[in-house]
Amino acid sequence: MYDVTAFTSTYIVLTALAGVLNVFVALYALMSRALFSGKLVFILMALANSFYTFGAALEKTSETLDGMMLWTTVQYAGMPFSAVLTLLLALHFLGKADLIPAWGRWLLFVIPSITFLLVLTNSHHHLFYQDIYFHRGPSTPTMDFTMGEWYVVHGCYTFGTLFAALCLMFQALLRPGNKAYRRQLIALFAGILLPITASLLYLLGFSPNGVDPVPVVLCFTSLLFVYAFLSTDKMALLPVARENVMESMGEGVLVLDASWRLLDSNRSARVLLPALARSALGQSLGSLELPDGAAAAFRSAWEQPGKPYSFASPPLPGEEPRWCEVYAAPISRGGGQAGGCLLVLSDITERRSLQEELKRLASRDPLTGILNRGAFMREAEEALGRCFGDGLPVSMILFDIDHFKGINDTLGHEAGDSALLHAVSVCSSLLGPDVLFARYGGEEFVLLLPGIDSFTAEKLAESIRMALESTPALDPDGRPLGIRASFGVAGFGRAALPVQDGYRALFRSADQALYAAKEQGRNRVISAPSS
Ligand code: GH3
Ligand code: MG
Ligand code: MG
Repeated sequence: MYDVTAFTSTYIVLTALAGVLNVFVALYALMSRALFSGKLVFILMALANSFYTFGAALEKTSETLDGMMLWTTVQYAGMPFSAVLTLLLALHFLGKADLIPAWGRWLLFVIPSITFLLVLTNSHHHLFYQDIYFHRGPSTPTMDFTMGEWYVVHGCYTFGTLFAALCLMFQALLRPGNKAYRRQLIALFAGILLPITASLLYLLGFSPNGVDPVPVVLCFTSLLFVYAFLSTDKMALLPVARENVMESMGEGVLVLDASWRLLDSNRSARVLLPALARSALGQSLGSLELPDGAAAAFRSAWEQPGKPYSFASPPLPGEEPRWCEVYAAPISRGGGQAGGCLLVLSDITERRSLQEELKRLASRDPLTGILNRGAFMREAEEALGRCFGDGLPVSMILFDIDHFKGINDTLGHEAGDSALLHAVSVCSSLLGPDVLFARYGGEEFVLLLPGIDSFTAEKLAESIRMALESTPALDPDGRPLGIRASFGVAGFGRAALPVQDGYRALFRSADQALYAAKEQGRNRVISAPSS
């Protein structure tokens, strides 16, 4: 039995303690109900550290070279993997784990795995340790070695990964947006810096008695990591989680301060409005090149929180413009301080086109596609109001297909439908853009002619009648169908009646004239006496 110096025993106790602590940390994370990104990586890292630290403690208790080699192998079952896991953990903490695809993450473990295998089989190739020396000193025996080729590869790789993790933390610390979890970032930064510094000192020969100080400092590293990931009850990851939620939201979100400056935007917002690129952060929304509609809608939304405003976002090449809706939600800071606001953007293109389609269907006659009676009455009253207001004449034509029932009865309803479609197409081809044309009933149609007096309307009715008479419809079998119709015309020169009364009076007069046309033998135009 060798004398164990106080130094060695302290080292053994500390490293064993670090090992126990790491097992405890792994178990704690496993059983903790706090769900955080990279939990599995965290547990694996703690386990890898415990292999390393226990191996280091037990190596110091060994009295033979074989025993030392065994415990060294145990250390290498943990240490090379621990560095890669630390890097992955840093990425998880920063919400950047997805930057490396799954296969890339596996690839990171290739060199550590080779290291472990080479340590395990070193006696056959000496690629890791070229030569190993065993010193039986007066106190504890020690092991010394000269580096093999792979030792250098392993060393560079381990330093490289830890250094990359350190840089990520440093970069995150510099980002103003990460202020909320700055302490956690500092803890992680220090936790990674500790083993890097310790191993550098060890390699440069500055460590006391030539022992590897890394297992000891891993004790502190683990504590710092536990603090960073689990110490705060609100979880240090909350900001990251929030950022993830915000980034993955289907709705666009903009965060503005009280002076209309853009503090943050999520991915959906940047897709809807590319002007909100990350480079726009910190700039006033007014200075960004937003589409006119968007800028106006943002202003209105800001002035009236909660109320939605819509605008069209400029189309991508070859695409239709997208319609967006925006509403503002004020951010209250409490204490009467002026806060900023959130602008929430949604893509309402689909909803809008569905609404428009519904509106169109509700206002159209399903067979012919022209206005139905309800829509005609609404739009005719509006048009009448405008004509009355502007002192313009206005006329109405009502027409009814003659003996239409006969077509249905002799040739069938399909032929009747063809006749109706034909009548609509012939009539439409003769109408100006301002004319309202509707199917009023089965085979009755109505026209409102804003700005046209009854004399001109009568001439138009006559030309429709003649066109119908001279262009026969074809039934579904291609046989010609003669269509004739009777017309009633009525008009106001300059009317000043209330609009609803005006509509009723005009319709009544046109209906009476149509009745007269039927009475007088059909296929003719009759005008009501002018009013
Ligand atoms: P009149 O010369 O006096 O106008 O007589 P008519 O036969 O044209 O008029 P009536 O009111 O007696 O008949 C109209 C017919 O139109 C009755 C109805 O079955 C038919 N009808 C209504 N809507 C449609 C439709 O959408 N398609 C078809 N094929 N027929 C329709
Ligand atoms: Mg008829
Ligand atoms: Mg009829």
